[in-house]
Amino acid sequence: MTLAAGTGTESFPLAWEHRPSESAIAEARREEILANPGFGKHFTDHMVAIDWTLEDGWYDARVQPYGPLLLDPAASVLHYAQEIFEGLKAYRHDDGSVWTFRPEKNAERFQRSARRLALPELSTDDFLESLRRLVAVDNDWVPSGEDTSLYLRPFMIANESFLGVRAAQKVGYYVIASPAGAYFSGGVKPVSIWLSTTYTRAGRGGTGAAKCGGNYAASLLPQQEAAENGCAQVLFLDAETGTHIEELGGMNIFFVHKDNRVVTPELTGSILEGVTRDSIIQLVRDRGYEVEERAVSVEDWRAGVESGDITEVFACGTAAVITPIAELKTSEFSIGSADAEAGELTMSIREELTDIQYGRRDDRHNWLYRLDA
Ligand SMILES: *Cc1c(COP(=O)(O)O)cnc(C)c1O
Repeated sequence: MTLAAGTGTESFPLAWEHRPSESAIAEARREEILANPGFGKHFTDHMVAIDWTLEDGWYDARVQPYGPLLLDPAASVLHYAQEIFEGLKAYRHDDGSVWTFRPEKNAERFQRSARRLALPELSTDDFLESLRRLVAVDNDWVPSGEDTSLYLRPFMIANESFLGVRAAQKVGYYVIASPAGAYFSGGVKPVSIWLSTTYTRAGRGGTGAAKCGGNYAASLLPQQEAAENGCAQVLFLDAETGTHIEELGGMNIFFVHKDNRVVTPELTGSILEGVTRDSIIQLVRDRGYEVEERAVSVEDWRAGVESGDITEVFACGTAAVITPIAELKTSEFSIGSADAEAGELTMSIREELTDIQYGRRDDRHNWLYRLDA
């Protein structure tokens, strides 16, 4: 059975309607927000919405004023967490143009997440068009300061009013946008991370490879435990054996070895396939490094650091790009030290990646996608 097909009024490609906001934030206030946006706190004047029903497929694609959704208290997302999301950034280049990074990867991952959560798939074309439509209207919200961006958050929810347990037959797709400041104000700083030995984020056959809110709900308590232990992030092990490193709550992890080798946990089905992860694999290969995607145990990490074989460890994801990891802490022992400096390759790959994203370096892999044209 496939949920993707709508047979009724669905048109290809979707026809778009623009309903402009009548209460847009004043320019002076917007400039004030853009000067110090933080992360995920402020939202632009508009949002994208597209409706879907099993009968009609996708319809009523629109850009509308940003504002609360009207949900029936029985809406299925509120009860059974049938929800998926994406996260990508719009970057303003020096010439004023606005670009994003490998969005077709996000579109395809969104389709895979949809399949896993029994939600309807949105075509890559419609996904890309939804980003372009929003940026066309809220272009002024894309900041231009160093390392700033407009964070784009597409998401899909089940909003059928029905408490029976089955895939919803009424769904909404939305995109909201939030200006984002430099993740590390005052320079990139290596972080300590906490190893969760009590909790896991994903099991075999579960939703670990899907970008869904439920995975994040399950990661919040261990994340709290990490914070209580002075750590910025939590690291999860595989649920089956409790030995292999999977990923952080919302970032993938890499190990740099001294003989031009880079290692990252292989995609087992319970790890989220990061676009940043994939891009880093390409960039370090371009530099002649050998990349191994394989199982890495905590013991491998400990022994590697002790012998000097592992020289750098870092985490990666769209929000923070690349974060150097100084130390792994557990209730019993720690690996590395809290005051370790950021590694050389870590910082150099970070710079290369952000240079590509901000148009400061040749985009040799054609990763950039123009949003404002
Ligand atoms: C989004 C996400 C990542 C990073 O993916 P990117 O595409 O690089 O932003 C890693 N792990 C999890 C669990 C995520 O949800």
